[in-house]
Amino acid sequence: MQSRDDFLNWVKDRNPQETEFVQAVSELSASIWPVLEASQDLQDQRIIERLSEPDRAVSFRVVWTRDDGDVEINRGYRVQFCNALGPYKGGLRFHPSVNQSVLKFLGFEQIFKNALTGLPMGGGKGGADFDPSGCNDGEIMRFCHAYMRELHRHIGPDIDIPAGDIGVGAREIGYLFGAYKAMTNEFGTVLTGKQPVFGGSEMRTEATGYGLVYFVSCMLGDADMDIDGMRVCISGAGNVATHAAEKMIDHGAKVITLSDSKGTLVVEDGLTREQVADIRQHKASGGGSLEAVADAVSGTWHAGDAPWKVACDIALPCATQNELDEKAAKTLIDNGVRLVAEGANMPCTADAIEAFRSADIYFGPAKAANAGGVAMSGLEISQNRMRMYKGRDELADLLKSIMHDIHDTCLNAAKDAGHGRDYAHGANIAAFQKVSKALMAFGAI
Ligand code: NDP
Repeated sequence: MQSRDDFLNWVKDRNPQETEFVQAVSELSASIWPVLEASQDLQDQRIIERLSEPDRAVSFRVVWTRDDGDVEINRGYRVQFCNALGPYKGGLRFHPSVNQSVLKFLGFEQIFKNALTGLPMGGGKGGADFDPSGCNDGEIMRFCHAYMRELHRHIGPDIDIPAGDIGVGAREIGYLFGAYKAMTNEFGTVLTGKQPVFGGSEMRTEATGYGLVYFVSCMLGDADMDIDGMRVCISGAGNVATHAAEKMIDHGAKVITLSDSKGTLVVEDGLTREQVADIRQHKASGGGSLEAVADAVSGTWHAGDAPWKVACDIALPCATQNELDEKAAKTLIDNGVRLVAEGANMPCTADAIEAFRSADIYFGPAKAANAGGVAMSGLEISQNRMRMYKGRDELADLLKSIMHDIHDTCLNAAKDAGHGRDYAHGANIAAFQKVSKALMAFGAI
């Protein structure tokens, strides 16, 4: 059998300059290589090579007009990575840093995350290099309509069902859904994260952050610990970060930090639920950096800093990829961190994960820990297909039970493979086994 290095060199040669994508493939392959070595069938059928090549990746021009009449041109994308378990499913990201490498890494991760939910969803991701900051509501609407002018050809209820991600929340999903409906004359389940009034789930907005805390709670429970009284550092101040903060506070934790692309807000006494809600509102209304709220929440502002120098029991990176490197991981370890769980996608570098592993720090990988959002999207699809409504309490119970199952699936897979409580290896192995089983059933196609 070829070595893992040979395989990674093959991936690198085929995807030059796609560093984030190669990083994601490398992380998964480290866990599943022994599974491949033990199966001649998986090797013969070249399953890992097939999974490292998207079914298709489309990119397209998006032309829209600013209020002052200036014509803008952006690049839109949709990467349909693998539909072995169901229609492609994964969010749309509107951010200037979006490129094919970032979306391929996110789409690749999504295949395995979606597999862990136990719901019938394949993996995909999309977006545009569009910068919503500074745009008014009308400009956002025109961009979303222009983006959907092309995207609608590629998606559909049994083909591909996008959702939100960075820069795409309920408002953008509304504009995108409106455009799809107008262009196709169909009220299909083509997007999740919709407002409940036109078929959305009552819990989708909260689901990723809340699900992350449910997952952390299971991890701590397994180690005979509890969230109550723990000091928590969270990065980001968006959807995932603020909902994780809210649910941590509900569980009795002290949330000491939130952050954004400009710096970190530290509140030594811990934020209150009301303050977190105000911060979410401040961000959603285009209020700019968190610096503006520091005085109101009796906090201090640390321009240009990430939260990882602040001593804490639990660290939840919830902003963006590669935001927590080896140096930050070592600082967290030196300061006594006990558990790290990823709310964002791939926020920890490979070296940071290795540092947590060497120091026996509990580590919840994104594929498992932040799967609550896509799980709720899966429930939104079922709701829409059945033309029915589910209330918050029922959805919250379903979310808890799905996160609990994902936790157990990862832990059992890790233990079976001799990795103890290594959730990162467990998540990769359990998800790969499921996806590869489906691919093997289809034959060489
Ligand atoms: P939002 O757009 O709501 O918030 C993103 C936050 O991260 C903002 O506070 C932003 O700061 C901050 N941020 C962005 N880039 C950087 C950076 N380079 N350095 C520091 N801070 C940064 O996004 P979400 O909360 O939806 O998503 C956050 C992460 O969670 C992403 O990795 C996403 O893929 C992942 N995720 C999201 C899901 C969801 O349901 N929304 C589901 C699963 C994963 P600023 O305000 O200054 O821009």
